[in-house]
Amino acid sequence: MENQVGLSKQRLGRRVVLFPVPLQGHINPMLQLASILHSRGFSIAIIHTRFNSPNPSKYPHFAFHSIDDGLLGSNASGEEIDNVLVLLRLINKNCTGSFRDCLTRLLSDGTKEPIACLITDAHLHFTQAIADSLKLPRIVLRTSNISSFLIFAAYPLLQEKGFISNQDPQSEAPLLDFPSVKVKDIPIIFTSNPEGLYEVIGTFIKQMKASSGIIWNTFSELEQSELVALAQHFPLPIFPIGPFHKYFTASSSSLLAQERSSISWLDLQKPKSVLYVSFGSIAAIDETDFIEMAWGLANSKQQFLWVVRPGTIRGSEWLEALPKWFLEAVGERGHIVKWAPQHEVLAHPATGAFWTHCGWNSTLESICEGVPMICSPSFGDQMVDARYVDGVWKIGMLLEDAMERGKIERAIQRVLVDKDGEEMRERIAVLKKKVNLCLKEGGSSYRSLGSLVSYILSF
Ligand code: UDP
Repeated sequence: MENQVGLSKQRLGRRVVLFPVPLQGHINPMLQLASILHSRGFSIAIIHTRFNSPNPSKYPHFAFHSIDDGLLGSNASGEEIDNVLVLLRLINKNCTGSFRDCLTRLLSDGTKEPIACLITDAHLHFTQAIADSLKLPRIVLRTSNISSFLIFAAYPLLQEKGFISNQDPQSEAPLLDFPSVKVKDIPIIFTSNPEGLYEVIGTFIKQMKASSGIIWNTFSELEQSELVALAQHFPLPIFPIGPFHKYFTASSSSLLAQERSSISWLDLQKPKSVLYVSFGSIAAIDETDFIEMAWGLANSKQQFLWVVRPGTIRGSEWLEALPKWFLEAVGERGHIVKWAPQHEVLAHPATGAFWTHCGWNSTLESICEGVPMICSPSFGDQMVDARYVDGVWKIGMLLEDAMERGKIERAIQRVLVDKDGEEMRERIAVLKKKVNLCLKEGGSSYRSLGSLVSYILSF
């Protein structure tokens, strides 16, 4: 898969410094971006926190620089949205000194190639002031899609119009300038700390506007009108160069061990017969929802590969809440793992549908493999991603409201077996073709990557 778009091996004599948010869904795209830029001839330095540190031995061609994050002893486990907010706030507060020292050291190291720019996750907004003071251009990587980002960016307007404070969680009404999205999809309501969320969103958007450009893990054909809207609100260089994992997979940046039994089990199944179930690296569910999921999967009579990440079920270590009858009733029809090699699973011929939380990486990975989705979003941009999968791209269905076994059973039947699902599969196959074209010479992402490389070299 590496270098499939014919990337140059020529060295450019410039370094790029990258700094990811230490969460799986953010580390993966940042390290993929680093690999893409390396393959285009840049040398790579990665600054990272000690918390969820990437494994340098998987990237011998990068220089890794660990900084003090002051996270030890905090309760920032990253397991739920409130903790993610805590984590982001702590990093933005605690890392100022250590990040500045590290970057200053790298800039003054005359034995290495000169540094062209800094690329950080959009959430690491404190880095803009430091980059400015060191006269180093900062480019932002936004790891969500553009569609959901535009709603975050419209947040002050939504707040002013009362959509936030008086949001009706049941409202099916279209949301202002976003007719594809419903009022109930506004990502804000699911946090117990709305003020913290408002602050995070407001600050990171302000500092994105102050940056030298924005890189997106998406492709223009998927979000054409959203790209136009983005350019109106963010008059900065914009680089939609995705999907990143089509250049380099994320297996080297996985924080958890990927269970190979997922693939050997899939090898035994018929083509397009398996439902792959995974809710990503952060989302957590209540025990009652987990039990409804188990009933729905058992009653569906379909094959399934289920990722139950330790910590997914609130109050349980792993599978203690699984009803005793479940494994016996399901037998060889189901396979449960703690973490899967997701790219390989989605690309496997036996995988017929993906029941996902609609994190942007998972959604994009599913599109790239032409696998239709059942969507159970949990928080943040996932609600909007799910709405687009269901209502705009029509490549999956959104499971609305609470988990309920009958509803789950019908959704599995619809997406995996029925004609409806077949039509979703046809539509997503068209998108898959577009992905392959956009990465080829002359394609939209290929050209955008070329512009990004020239832009970085112009600094
Ligand atoms: N992933 C994986 N194995 C799993 C589940 C997820 O490798 O069993 C990877 C997946 O391929 C994706 C990332 O973890 O790249 C999850 O990112 P996403 O944006 O989908 O969700 P998040 O974890 O940030 O909520």
